[in-house]
Amino acid sequence: MTTQSLYETLQARLKEERQRLMEQLEQVRARRESGNRLEGSPFGKREEEASETTELESLIAFEDSISEQLVGVERALEKFDKGTYGLCEKCGRPIEAARLEALPDATLCLSCKTAQAKDARAR
Ligand SMILES: [Zn+2]
Repeated sequence: MTTQSLYETLQARLKEERQRLMEQLEQVRARRESGNRLEGSPFGKREEEASETTELESLIAFEDSISEQLVGVERALEKFDKGTYGLCEKCGRPIEAARLEALPDATLCLSCKTAQAKDARAR
């Protein structure tokens, strides 16, 4: 596969991913909002409130993680417009094709990512 056709495939995958994440985010937000209304109900028992709070917390955590993924996907898609897609944000070298295939919104090449991971562990 040429780099060009690989990038086209990845761009299509990222667009699908963005669509999927946006739909997921909408569903989670709708559920969270209906949960918020339930929380204000005067009929809730203590135990039910506790489980609702836990569900609400996990919904919020889920929403955060979807938002984060969405930001990553959108940033990757913007790079297609700028012509910088597939380039490492740190060293500017092309990111390995296999890495992009596994992780289309990767921002760092494998060696920069490895270095970053080592850095994080050292801190
Ligand atoms: Zn790099």
